Amino acid sequence: MKLYPLFADLHGLPVLVVGGGGVARRKAEALLGAGAQVTVGAPRLDAELAAWAGAGTIRWQRGEFVPGWLDGMWLVIAATDERGLNAAVAAAASERRLFANVVDDAAHSRFHVPAVVDRSPLVVAVSTAGAAPALARRVRETLERVLDHGLGALVALAQRQRARIVRRHENLADRRAFYDWLHDGPVLPLLRAARGQEAEQVLLAALQGDGPPPRKGSVTLVGAGPGHPGLLTLQALRALNEADVVLHDQLVGDAILAMVRRDAERIDVGKRCGGRQVAQEQIHRLMLAHAREGRRVVRLKGGDPFVFGRGGEEMAFLRRHGVACAVVPGVTAAVACAAFAGIPLTQRGQAQSVCLLTAHGKAGSDMPDVQALGRPGQTLAIYMGVERADALTARLLAHGRATDTPVAIVENGSLPQQRVIAGVLAELPRLVREHAVGSPALLIVGEVAACATSQAWFGELVDARAGQPVAEPMAELA
Ligand code: SAH
Repeated sequence: MKLYPLFADLHGLPVLVVGGGGVARRKAEALLGAGAQVTVGAPRLDAELAAWAGAGTIRWQRGEFVPGWLDGMWLVIAATDERGLNAAVAAAASERRLFANVVDDAAHSRFHVPAVVDRSPLVVAVSTAGAAPALARRVRETLERVLDHGLGALVALAQRQRARIVRRHENLADRRAFYDWLHDGPVLPLLRAARGQEAEQVLLAALQGDGPPPRKGSVTLVGAGPGHPGLLTLQALRALNEADVVLHDQLVGDAILAMVRRDAERIDVGKRCGGRQVAQEQIHRLMLAHAREGRRVVRLKGGDPFVFGRGGEEMAFLRRHGVACAVVPGVTAAVACAAFAGIPLTQRGQAQSVCLLTAHGKAGSDMPDVQALGRPGQTLAIYMGVERADALTARLLAHGRATDTPVAIVENGSLPQQRVIAGVLAELPRLVREHAVGSPALLIVGEVAACATSQAWFGELVDARAGQPVAEPMAELA
């Protein structure tokens, strides 16, 4: 059976939902969302429907179904849990040439309610003609991921300016080209950046010029998260799909690079220690050069771009040179490593604050002043701290942290080869050496770090608190 797809304008029209439970409520809600005048017919209503009826949001037709309920209706949905009753509603509707839907019963339905991706006024509807609704839902999920959340605002803008667009581009081919520009050009990024007025101005300016204006390059600083591809945000994924050039760090693994648009140019700008400053300037120059050629540049960084990622410097540089720059946050190592090690960063009665710090400052500068960090009740998440574990430990102890303060070393956090070494502060330098901790690794210091031993759920745990390391493989859930 092949269905005829249809979007119905029910605004102000009376419609009927038969049934008074949760399913009926969801149907009524969707109909109300479309502006219909909803009557719900049932002997009893669930609490929420009853509240709506009380407030006049819906009308309640009390009692057992009779065909008379259908008088004056445009549409009916049977949503009771009695199949026979649902079929009777459908039969009565059919007799009156009224469209009826029976929930979960394709055979008795004259119309089907699709799974939808809502970017109103843009709506994508998915149907399997009742053959496999669960599969329709999976397709919907896929679309939900790939369709930009800015699309709704883009369509609304196009709707507002439709008359102007049509007047300016009377020829259909021209108009298509204009809409292509609207979809691929600078308007959508402005809408995403919550700058609706500017977006509208750019559109109006384009309508005044001859043909779509040339594309301006831009740079998006994108946080890739700690390495697990599932921790990439939807917005990051979209940026990777749209990029013409991707400049990425070493920390960004292959699983994430695999999501970059196939024909995008990829440049590994991984910085190794030594000669950093030169490398950073080179990155600045590359970003600028590509953006000035009109490309969409993604600067892809591990974790979050604004947490020990030099994203601030890059953004300031780009702004100084007049290049548009947006930022997509990522899950930073502290947050990801803590979660994947079962360590809450704050915990009532144990840690009221959390401090992200690095033991690896700007060339020439020393470690941060750890005086304030010596006090208990604060979790420290230390980036790039492994190489300087000795000095760091000495400082923390000197400033009053107890020798038995729990610590956890999270190596390769969120990756399949993750390893967590749990111990105490006084032992930290020894643990780093004995377990040959590699890069990247994050140090978590504070009472909460003790949770690593009881709450580990991912990767390998080495419990070195008793001084006697025991390797214990954990079930991998993610
Ligand atoms: N911008 C990044 C940090 C870059 S600095 C972020 O927000 O996470 C690099 C340091 O981050 C590493 O030395 C290490 O301390 C930490 N790090 C990054 N990814 C990590 C991971 N998967 N596991 C453990 N530590 C990580």
